[in-house]
Amino acid sequence: MVKVLKFGGTSLASAEQFAKVAAIVRAEPERRYVVASAPGKRFDGDTKVTDMLYDCYRLVKSNDPIDGAFDAIRARLQSIIDELGLALDLTQDFERVKSALLHHSGRDYAASRGEYFNARILAAYLGYDFIDAESVIFFKENGTLDVEKTDAELAAALAKHERAVIPGFYGVMPNGTIKTFSRGGSDITGSIVARAVRADLYENWTDVSGMLMADPRCVKNPRVIPTITYRELRELSYMGATVLHEDAVFPVRQASIPINIRNTNRPQDSGTMIVEHVASNKVDTVITGVAGKPGFSVIAIEKDGMNA
Ligand code: ADP
Ligand code: ASP
Ligand code: MG
Repeated sequence: MVKVLKFGGTSLASAEQFAKVAAIVRAEPERRYVVASAPGKRFDGDTKVTDMLYDCYRLVKSNDPIDGAFDAIRARLQSIIDELGLALDLTQDFERVKSALLHHSGRDYAASRGEYFNARILAAYLGYDFIDAESVIFFKENGTLDVEKTDAELAAALAKHERAVIPGFYGVMPNGTIKTFSRGGSDITGSIVARAVRADLYENWTDVSGMLMADPRCVKNPRVIPTITYRELRELSYMGATVLHEDAVFPVRQASIPINIRNTNRPQDSGTMIVEHVASNKVDTVITGVAGKPGFSVIAIEKDGMNA
């Protein structure tokens, strides 16, 4: 049995959150491959490290100094290392990345460094191997994921590591430059890793106890959806229920790997299982969930022989 876990930004935002993550990973020996996001918001009004990195990139582009902005990023990461009491020394890495940023290494390269550093820290903390996404996630010249090459190389690389941490969100272009997925893309990395190792389960750990029947930012205390089909999830996702990146469904769905959305802050909750089919005798609600966007309507037409 193999489980792949992806932890989102809030799950890895501080040393305190890292401790929760380690307890979750260590609770089951099957939890062998872990995909890490960059540190997210620690509190309302906080800034995600990814956004701080985009800011750095903007400063470089406008020829403004980045020292202050870069020091703030370094300080956030270093505080996690210090508070966890790790012997990890990233001094030279920080300098190398700062210099690369100053030498116009690109917007995606800048954004990707949050995942890179956080995965390094998590690997050191867990005692897991670190596998850089730039050596296993491949994009094609046209910017889309090279599905076959990634699946083959990732499977081969992971087979050499009993336990590993892989940074989410980015991969490499044929010319060697770093490219990211769109925002929230660590979900996609998790899904690709789960498929490559033919995982039994893809656990997506976040800050809510599963897919909720409505957006918690609009509705107070919505109930959790215990089980949902990939298809229903897709419908809710493109209507704005953005707990999981849309493109994260395809790789695992194809390989019949269920996704389990879980809450890092409440690991005792079973979360939401995303599966291909839900037996009708297991469904106790007529409506699975509600999502919406202003000025957006959907017309769904379904019938046998539609394409005829
Ligand atoms: P992560 O950083 O872990 O990837 P995200 O912020 O991408 O987390 O996704 C989790 C957030 O999605 C929740 O905190 C919640 O605000 C939001 N969300 C929107 N719609 C829903 C929904 N229907 N169910 C659960 N969460 C939802
Ligand atoms: N850190 C990236 C973002 O903020 C990717 C992710 O969190 O999934 O979009
Ligand atoms: Mg997300």
